[in-house]
Amino acid sequence: MRARALYFNGETSRREDVELEFAPDNSITLLKNSGSRHWPIGTYHFDLPIGKSAIRIRGPEGSLVEAPYASELYEALRSISTKQEKVVSALEERWPAALGLFGLAVLVCACLYLYGLPIASRTIKPFIPFKLKQFVGEQVLTLYEKAGIGQSQLSEIQKAQFMKAASDLTTAAAFPFEIEITTREWKLHGTEIENAFALLPEKIVVSDALVNHLSIDETQAIVAHEIGHLYYDHGTEHLIRSSLVSILSIALFGGDPGTVQAVAFAMLDAKYSQSHETEADLYATALLKKINKRPQLLGEALKKITADSPEYMHEKYFSSHPLTSERKKRLETE
Ligand SMILES: [Zn+2]
Repeated sequence: MRARALYFNGETSRREDVELEFAPDNSITLLKNSGSRHWPIGTYHFDLPIGKSAIRIRGPEGSLVEAPYASELYEALRSISTKQEKVVSALEERWPAALGLFGLAVLVCACLYLYGLPIASRTIKPFIPFKLKQFVGEQVLTLYEKAGIGQSQLSEIQKAQFMKAASDLTTAAAFPFEIEITTREWKLHGTEIENAFALLPEKIVVSDALVNHLSIDETQAIVAHEIGHLYYDHGTEHLIRSSLVSILSIALFGGDPGTVQAVAFAMLDAKYSQSHETEADLYATALLKKINKRPQLLGEALKKITADSPEYMHEKYFSSHPLTSERKKRLETE
């Protein structure tokens, strides 16, 4: 059985069309116009192809044969009896290199994820239309509603008090668009959840349980922190990152290009990064000062959520706003 190939003699750049003949003893005979050459088993070496590159066979005298027609070569290999052992042993020899390549690929992916994504998301952020952000924000809220967010059960007095505190903040923040701040009842398996979150691009939702647990000033400090997330448009960065991750994972691993809903789901789990938390904390501190409130209120509020409520109550809040020891320390010394 023969396969067509290209022969490079290893001394000049000249190439020659040849045919390879595989014998049952795994030896290869090169059939060239200038005379054939016999390579006994053990004198040549297979370079396994990477991606779509041609299969290369290195000969004993430094010569090289490229087999661009892979199917012909495989066919020829299949026709000889012990070919599998040869290919398997070649594969085994290539294992360290293959592992190295795999490690390198993982490293490149990690670097892209850690450094490429933040840079890409900050670059793309200014070009995302407000309307698109609103659409995504509404999609996420719909998902939250399916996950147990209902109408607020706070008393009219509590609601009025909360709205006054919120509007003091939004007036001081002076955004070019209106920020929509609402309270909602949030239950998970019958348990009230203490949480507050910012939604793209102008919504903040605070759970009834959080309002009930904290003083109005402390609640205001939490809302100030959420306004910080809106101010820096952290949500859009998350949106871009999750979209890029979805696109990348579809490109790399294939799968269902599951669209806005998949991205929205990814965003539900999106943790703000440490730098985002710091930015939002610093923003909140400045905003509280602006309305003549003590900036320490934020630290006190977070402490209260952590300290005198059961684990399941504050778990939700800190899973989306990670409270690292560094952040805790900074807030305490604020
Ligand atoms: Zn946060």
